[in-house]
Amino acid sequence: MSTFWLILLLLILVLLLFLGGKLKRKEKSYAIPKGKEVYEDLEARGKILRSYRYGLSGKPDMIKRKGNTLIPYEYKTTDAAVPRDGHIFQMVAYFLILSEMYPNMDIPYGVLKYKNQAFRIDNIPENRSRLLGIVDEMRAQFMEPERNHSNSGRCFKCSFNEVCQQKLISSKQ
Ligand code: SF4
Repeated sequence: MSTFWLILLLLILVLLLFLGGKLKRKEKSYAIPKGKEVYEDLEARGKILRSYRYGLSGKPDMIKRKGNTLIPYEYKTTDAAVPRDGHIFQMVAYFLILSEMYPNMDIPYGVLKYKNQAFRIDNIPENRSRLLGIVDEMRAQFMEPERNHSNSGRCFKCSFNEVCQQKLISSKQ
């Protein structure tokens, strides 16, 4: 092989390694937020977190703290090409719950980690308003969803179980 082809091959290899590293770093930064895992410091591990103001509850898989910042983290066992609406609202519910529980902390975003990739969900006012609109409608019972399962575990973890009339669990668990 001539020197020219050898150098070209080396350059391509270096480029591929560089791009691979970049993609990996990006995936890593969304998959595992840096900082200290604090859920067990904030509340007993596994305990349901509640917002009494908004009537929401939730149980993030993990919360990381870095300085004055909290980042909720939710694992999903399925693949997804884009974050699903229900999962985004679940994350937004965590934002509202955590901001009520820890008013002096910043919660700029959360991480939704599917089997195949992770997404950063920003804590933006539009999403919070949409979620609160849905909760209001549920409360007014104009839009009570038809329960399509008989799995009390799902209701236990569901962010809407404080306001849902069809839940399979009692209110205070
Ligand atoms: S039925 Fe259960 S899972 Fe469905 S919205 Fe109500 S509490 Fe949530």
